[in-house]
Amino acid sequence: MISPVMANYARADIAFEKGEGVYLYASDGTRYLDFGGGIAVTCLGHCHPHLVEALTRQAGQLWHCSNLYQIPEQTRLAERLVAASFADSVVFINSGAEAVETSVKMARKYQSDQGHPERFRVITCEGAFHGRTLAMIAAGGQEKHLAGFGPVVDGFDQVAFDNLNEMRAAVGPETAALLIEPVQGEGGIRALSKDYLKGARALADEFGVLLILDEVQTGIGRTGKLFAHEWAGIEPDILASAKGLGGGFPIGACLAKEGPASALTAGSHGSTFGGNPLAMAVGNAVLDVVLETGFLDKANAIAKRLWQRLEEIAVNHPTVFEGISGSGLMVGLKCVPTNMDVVAKLTEGGLLTVAAGENVVRLVPPLIIEDSHVDEAIAIIDKAAGELDA
Ligand SMILES: *Cc1c(COP(=O)(O)O)cnc(C)c1O
Repeated sequence: MISPVMANYARADIAFEKGEGVYLYASDGTRYLDFGGGIAVTCLGHCHPHLVEALTRQAGQLWHCSNLYQIPEQTRLAERLVAASFADSVVFINSGAEAVETSVKMARKYQSDQGHPERFRVITCEGAFHGRTLAMIAAGGQEKHLAGFGPVVDGFDQVAFDNLNEMRAAVGPETAALLIEPVQGEGGIRALSKDYLKGARALADEFGVLLILDEVQTGIGRTGKLFAHEWAGIEPDILASAKGLGGGFPIGACLAKEGPASALTAGSHGSTFGGNPLAMAVGNAVLDVVLETGFLDKANAIAKRLWQRLEEIAVNHPTVFEGISGSGLMVGLKCVPTNMDVVAKLTEGGLLTVAAGENVVRLVPPLIIEDSHVDEAIAIIDKAAGELDA
């Protein structure tokens, strides 16, 4: 007989009861150091007092009113994102997939408004992950996500990862936009170089197509800047954000320059829950912390320390780890044994991580980790690697 909860996940047999900072407590009392962050979501750890305060205060005032009315907390979050980024305007939705799909809709509508309705295609990279809606599995182009779900949504062309020549060759008269993750997350923590991102920007400008960045995973300080593209000194036309933006509360946002943003006129797009007062209160609270002077400097310093220690481990255990990849506190450990075995071994040792493509184990801890958490994680990884070595 089928379980009441559908079986579309391969879940570990652990249930968590409580979260506190970098730690999760299972119902049997076991404590885990959480370097998985609910898949790069809980950027300020669990039950951060400032977020709890913002959420509970809002919960006692107003939960929901719809976008038929003004939502002051939404205006405030949009204003702050605009002030802190390349963007001129923001639309809120509820998830990563929706944020990227909104970006694609915006790009198509913009091109259509410019007199180019034939420009509707979007070029993506192999190994990409943009979410699980019908259009976003087409954008991701991965067979394992597409199989069995019928005709693939038209309008996506895929090129090799990290290959600008192929990207250039793929731009045609029907191209509306390029869609890129600055660091592929699900695809295996694969970072694109500054030069690639600069080249993609130049390519988009040369052909009059838009540059969309999927920063659902890389955004909100994950790589040490508010958004990862800042490292390359470029600006996208449209950017999708989600995961860290709500620190664990479901939220998505699509940030854009005035041109493409103007394409979403009243009635052209919407979402019942998007930008709901609860999500907005938490989003504002996340920014209170992440945008505080010195916060990201501290995250960068701790990231550097984590990388150094992981590099030592990789050198000491070449039969377990092939190398390290990523950016900031988005780190991939490429494994020799299957990554699922390594994740399970680390969980046994009390460290939560997440598997990614390319046989990688992903470390995406909260940005608030301290030296002691790095030491603790390193000790667990070292011990697990020693056991896997044997
Ligand atoms: C997680 C993720 C998504 C999808 O987000 P959901 O909230 O699961 O829909 C899209 N793009 C990237 C880069 C992601 O990491």
